[in-house]
Amino acid sequence: MRNTPITHFETFGLSPELMQALTKMNFQTPSPVQEATIAPMLAGRDVLVQAPTGTGKTAAFGIPIVERVDITSRHIQTIILSPTRELALQITSVLQQLTAFKHSIRVQALYGGEPIYRQINALKRRPQIVVATPGRLMDHMKRNTVRLKHVNCIVLDEADRMLDMGFRDDIAAILQQLPTERQTVLFSATVSPEIKNIAATYQTEAEQICIQQETLTVDSVAQYYADIRHGDKTPALLHLLDDQNFKLCLVFVATKIMAENLARELSLAGHPADALHGDLEQPQRNRVMQRYRKGEISLLVATDVAARGIDVDGIDAVINYDIPGDSDSYVHRIGRTGRADKSGVAYTFVGLKERGKLQNIIKSTKATITPVTGMFGRFGVQEVPGSGGSGSRSGTQSGKKPARRRNNGGKPWNKRRSKPQ
Ligand code: ADP
Ligand code: MG
Repeated sequence: MRNTPITHFETFGLSPELMQALTKMNFQTPSPVQEATIAPMLAGRDVLVQAPTGTGKTAAFGIPIVERVDITSRHIQTIILSPTRELALQITSVLQQLTAFKHSIRVQALYGGEPIYRQINALKRRPQIVVATPGRLMDHMKRNTVRLKHVNCIVLDEADRMLDMGFRDDIAAILQQLPTERQTVLFSATVSPEIKNIAATYQTEAEQICIQQETLTVDSVAQYYADIRHGDKTPALLHLLDDQNFKLCLVFVATKIMAENLARELSLAGHPADALHGDLEQPQRNRVMQRYRKGEISLLVATDVAARGIDVDGIDAVINYDIPGDSDSYVHRIGRTGRADKSGVAYTFVGLKERGKLQNIIKSTKATITPVTGMFGRFGVQEVPGSGGSGSRSGTQSGKKPARRRNNGGKPWNKRRSKPQ
């Protein structure tokens, strides 16, 4: 992971109220995108940020916005545009958490699908920050129910998605009606020529920030490991799959050949699986990804290289059949689950001689990876608790450690194998 000394939020000179909120949110150190974005945004600069999902973009703009709001003014000062109502609500919720101790800041969400009169009433309470979908904001602008004369900052979150969804003209119209003396910030997972064009048209001397795939090992992923001897990995995996009913599961192995072999073994054992590795031709690869994305096949066995581009929502489990060699790969692998604010679970099988690798990963990611004990005595494998088909992942969203060991509903993975054979 990062070898640079860890920065703390203190280094940005944030207010005590905001520091208190970050503590309450259990944000201890800034993520890379936050580290790169907070200072220029605090300085009022335009910024163009390219970063994948799950990297902590909301707080990257939320922190400087909350800090820069003039609380003596009751005009709308900041607009955040979001492609969907769900995202608008999510951003609003993060901003409300960030302002938990800044009582005079009001945040209002404006999105389609809610009666507009309710929002018009809410606007009378004079929010300083508005989070809006472009269509609904245009609606309010036409009705004159929002005044944008005092807006000095606009953030376009998921700009690429807004363009994909056809908000091009609305975005242009909104940007044109804002005061020219303002900060314009763009966040996008991809930077297409069109995004560059928007940047060139509406930004001034923007600082460009590009964060490579470096998803946080977020609290939404409960992480477990179990000691498993090499020859027992496949039976252990089969038990887990039998027991847990994952909707979409991603299994990582070390080599292409293992990906092929394991996918075949799993398929033969009644768990249809595809392999994804660097030797597949692009059309083959696309076919595999399409099947997986649509949920036609629920198991994918992949190598690290092949998994670089996997950007699928709704993966509920990542299994490190082979423990990754370094913490970067670990973070990247488990970042395939727990996305889009859903919870996920990651299991790492640790071979007898691989304890050192596990220790290194824990040391450099500071992740809580909980050992699971008990159920695999005969194989030297230990119980993996939690989750289950019933899906409760309690305690993993709130910044707490992953759930404690739980009796797996009396259904250990190895219930069949534990019988004398
Ligand atoms: P993005 O917008 O880049 O997809 P989010 O802003 O939704 O990412 O953040 C992803 C997850 O990471 C959220 O669950 C959020 O609470 C968590 N998170 C963000 N920043 C931090 C941090 N500095 N420390 C701990 N968790 C964080
Ligand atoms: Mg986001």
